[in-house]
Amino acid sequence: MSKNLLFIPGPVTVAETVLGATARPLIDHRGPEFKALLESIERRLKPIFGTERAQILILGSSGTGGLEAAVGNLFGPGDRVLACPNGVFGDRLVAIARTFGCEVEVLDTPWGGAVDAAALRARLAAATGDARFDGVLLTHNETSTGAQNDLATLAEAVRGHGAYVVVDSVSGLAASEFRMDEWDFDVVVSASQKALAAPPGLTMVAVAPRAWQRIEANLTAQRFYFDLRKAREFAVLGQTPWTPPVSIVFGLDAALDEFERTGAAAVHERHARYARAIRAAGQALGLEAYSHDGAHSPTVVALRLPAGVDGDAIRRSLREGRGVVIGGGQKDLKGKIIRIGTMGDLTQTDVLGALGALEIALLEAGAPIHAGTGVQAALNVFLEAEQPAAV
Ligand SMILES: *Cc1c(COP(=O)(O)O)cnc(C)c1O
Repeated sequence: MSKNLLFIPGPVTVAETVLGATARPLIDHRGPEFKALLESIERRLKPIFGTERAQILILGSSGTGGLEAAVGNLFGPGDRVLACPNGVFGDRLVAIARTFGCEVEVLDTPWGGAVDAAALRARLAAATGDARFDGVLLTHNETSTGAQNDLATLAEAVRGHGAYVVVDSVSGLAASEFRMDEWDFDVVVSASQKALAAPPGLTMVAVAPRAWQRIEANLTAQRFYFDLRKAREFAVLGQTPWTPPVSIVFGLDAALDEFERTGAAAVHERHARYARAIRAAGQALGLEAYSHDGAHSPTVVALRLPAGVDGDAIRRSLREGRGVVIGGGQKDLKGKIIRIGTMGDLTQTDVLGALGALEIALLEAGAPIHAGTGVQAALNVFLEAEQPAAV
């Protein structure tokens, strides 16, 4: 079997303990063992979401299904929703809300940037009376551009308007501190295959008490498979309404063991450190970060390519020649950027190896780089992080 290092921003490299857990014999998904498993997972996810009061539902689906569940249960035809996209995944939330018949207004943010909290606050303040918004849609970490929003400031901007706030934290959760209760978010969505470092197949939808009232009262909502009322009914029994991907539930449980063994603070620090190292390497090689200063993501680094160098060709050379798999640009950014993820079971050595391979691929593509400077810059970040604290 050839060895591939997965540096795409999901699905990610999964630890062997996690892969091993997914190979366990299957169990009855309506039996006591599964009930205990589901309850343990919910209990252990709560601090990762930063919530005590929300209920965390585990659904068999990729992250997009979780987003559809959030929007489709809270909103319906004619509801006024303010979406705040800053990339492809934010646009997906817009599309979902439109599909459910919402009247969607878009607060535009240039790609690579973070949503401007003052602009959001001003738009909400201007929406009074019948123009008030029923919902606000936010993306925590925009995986397509490598930009991360500052949720604490956006939470402040939204506070008081009364809109239900849906947050896509599929590629953000577990890589940095998340405070759902403190930020007063109504529904937060994540998925198994990003920073939680399990295989794809599960989405987690955290629902605050206030949101339940709306979900119950939303009688025109179109929902069946993703009916959160049903999910809640079965969660009480320690079950899911429909057959879940049981093997992936085993995997998520083992991934949470890994998370707890390392500790949240160390996991957060690791993602930030890898992202800093990759950005430093990019800068040394003349590949500027696509994300703007102050908005850099800890889970994915998007780098612009030198003029005349095709990102898709670089990716092909890395994948086919060197066993390193990285992401490319999506939609308008196709071929123009590369995206390197920091999530999953990756070591510093893996990061240095991938950056070395990237240098070779760039050299072969005729990019004007100085070999070794990228790896050196990343190494400096790692060496600095290992310095013992000054006494
Ligand atoms: C990966 C991702 C999703 C979900 O994608 P799926 O392929 O449906 O799991 C949603 N939002 C963001 C920001 C993502 O990174």
